[in-house]
Parts: sequence; C-alpha cells; structure tokens
Amino acid sequence: MKIEEFFSSRVAGMRSSEIRELLKLLDRPEMISFAGGLPNPDAFPIEKMKRVVNHVMEVHAREALQYGTTEGHAKLREVICGGMNDHFGVSGLDMQNIMITNGSQQALNLLSQLFLDPGDIVLTSDPTYLGAILTFRSYQAEIESVPMDDQGIRIDMLEERLAQLAKKNKLPKFVYLIPSFQNPTGVTIPEKNRRAIYRLSAHYDILLIEDDPYGLLRFEGEPVPLIKSMDVTQHVVYLGTFSKILAPGYRVAWMIAPGQIISRATIAKQAQDLCTNTFGQYCVFEAIYHDVLFPHIAEIIRLYKGKRDRMLAAMDQYFPEDISYTRPQGGMFLWVTLPEDYNSLDLLKKAIEKNVAYVIGAPFFPNGGGHNTFRLNYSYASDDHIEEGIRRLSDAIQNR
Ligand code: PMP
Repeated sequence: MKIEEFFSSRVAGMRSSEIRELLKLLDRPEMISFAGGLPNPDAFPIEKMKRVVNHVMEVHAREALQYGTTEGHAKLREVICGGMNDHFGVSGLDMQNIMITNGSQQALNLLSQLFLDPGDIVLTSDPTYLGAILTFRSYQAEIESVPMDDQGIRIDMLEERLAQLAKKNKLPKFVYLIPSFQNPTGVTIPEKNRRAIYRLSAHYDILLIEDDPYGLLRFEGEPVPLIKSMDVTQHVVYLGTFSKILAPGYRVAWMIAPGQIISRATIAKQAQDLCTNTFGQYCVFEAIYHDVLFPHIAEIIRLYKGKRDRMLAAMDQYFPEDISYTRPQGGMFLWVTLPEDYNSLDLLKKAIEKNVAYVIGAPFFPNGGGHNTFRLNYSYASDDHIEEGIRRLSDAIQNR
C-alpha cells in the first residue's frame, strides 16, 4: 500500500530532521547531555508520593480508577482556582474558567484546534518553544515571529508588527508567549513589558496565551505578576502545569480561560481523549491537599539553583570571552549565542565526538535564523557532569 499518498495535507509538513538523527547518538552511556528538557528524577518526591498514591487507592480508588468529567476533577479545579486567586492575583475565577488537560501540550493543541484555520496567523517571540511551533504548524498556521532581547519579546517591534498586520487585515488569531524563564532562553519579561503586551492584546482585541510551566521555579529576585492577573478584559488564556513542579508523568496541567473557550474546549477534548488521566488528577489533588506540593517546590528550587550556579560558574571559567549567554533567575534552561561566524550545528558534531550535547537554536526560530545559538538544559545532568560537560564543550568550541 502506498501509505504516503493517503496522508492528509497536515502530515506533509511533518518531517524527521537531521537533528533527530544526531540525537539518537545521545543514548551512548558516556554522553553528557544538556540537550533534553527533562526535570531531574531526583526532583520527584518519590517517597511522599508513595504515601499519596496509597491514600488515593485506600480512600478514593473507586472514583480514581473511573473515567472522569472532561473538564477535570472538581476538587482539583477548585483548589487551583483558589490558588490562582490567593497567590497570583487572578481574581474573579470560577469553575467555568478552568479545565484540566493532559499536560499543557494538550491545551496548546486544543487552542489550536479551536482557533486556527489553515493560513491563520499566530504571533510568537523569536525564538520560542519548539513544541508550540510544531502544534501551530500541525494546524497549518503561519507563524509571525518577533525578535527578543534580554527582556523577552521586543515591545517596540511587537507594536510595529501588529500595526502592520492590522493594516493588512491579517491580525493573528493569538499571541503565544512564555513570559517567565522562557523555554528556550531562560529570559523573563519584566512587569512593565507585560503590561504593554497586555494593552496591545486588548487594543487589537486578540487573545494572548500565557504559557507558564516554569514561573514557580524562581531561584532569586522578585516574582513578576502574571499577565493573567492584569486581564480585566478576558483576553488572556493562562496555562499552568504540574510537570515541572511535581512530575511530568502524571500529565496533569490546567488552562484558565473565558467560559466560552472552556466550553468549546470541553467538546474538542471529548473528541481527543474523553478526560485527563483520573488517577493522576487524584494524586495531584491529594499532593496539594496533604501539603506535599509546596514544600517540595522549595526543594526543586534548591536543587536546580545549585545546578544553574555550577553551569554558569563552569561557563564563566572555560568559555571564550566572545561567547555570550543568559543568566536565568529560574527555570531549567539557558541560551548561548556564539559569534556570527559560528554554526552551532557544525559545533554540535564536534561536541558529540567529545561526548557532550546540546540542542541547536535554529529549530526554535519559526522563520529561520539562530544558526549561531544553542540551548543548554541544567536541570537533568548530575553536578559532576555539568562541570565536565561544559569543559568538553569549551574544548569543542576552541577546536572547531
Ligand atoms: N510549554 C512549554 C514552554 C514547555 O517547555 C513545555 C514542556 N517542555 C510544555 C509547554 C508542555 O508541558 P506539559 O505538557 O508537560 O505540561
């Protein structure tokens, strides 16, 4: 059967890349990889969650093993609404404004399904999260991207781009941003710029997706208000997830949005998976209720801060002067910019020969560019490997 001829036009754009072939080499045991985006398993509260899981099985097994409602476990939704209000200043929420999803990745998929027809425009920063680019593309959207600096998306350029698009009657269906400790750069958008972004989305009457998997992993500095907390006009959809603050294996995340969006997303989700993993939702709820979650976040922060410090110290010591990198105040990633005449894919081949790896920057740029950039993950590698890996990487840079 000629399977290729039967694929939909959506599938035509999905290709395996050279980088994926290279990443296969990362399974070698001697490889030190800063390439993945994984939380550290040492950051999973295994003993505490054993007790939580036992409790769920002893007290709630009949419901926790059953199908659940598509919107999600009511108690979990309630506790999240309360938390968003009490701790993050997101007021006026009720149960119609929240849905539990199978990871934030599913929320990105649902939002794309609800809003994107082929050829519609999504606006992102340049670079942005690869998983979001893949999702938007799978709905055949066009991505407009606006450059970033050390304060996140360039507000002047965002303003200009929106004005141009408005003139052509081609405003985006939504703007997608990761304002805190962005994947891939680790950059955080300051409050003043967040207010400007919110004003622009309200002015042009376009949705803004605030994707926030890392915001609670702040190692230092003052927390910056969520854009959702500024949203008096219902233009912001907020995505939170337990993946990086508890464990991604539960696949439990939440979406806060105007009621009309949640009710349509519920219908779309029914067609996708009926409901989010009920057992996972019970475990997450009990972890919050029995006060396992918040003390545990403090432990993750301690672990990752130590790893970030180690990575930056090694980079300060070994990297040549003309290489610049971000110094994130939280999250899991930092971003390296090499001089213009470097190519981070060529360098990766050299690095892999020395048994160290990263993710090249180019795929994070929806419209090309970034040939001299790469992303480093510091949450996963052991402390010793962080130092050794950076030493190997700077050898590769110096002998390119
Ligand atoms: N958004 C961003 C910016 C991410 O980095 C990730 C995970 N790497 C996700 C969404 C998806 O997370 P999950 O589906 O596990 O909630």
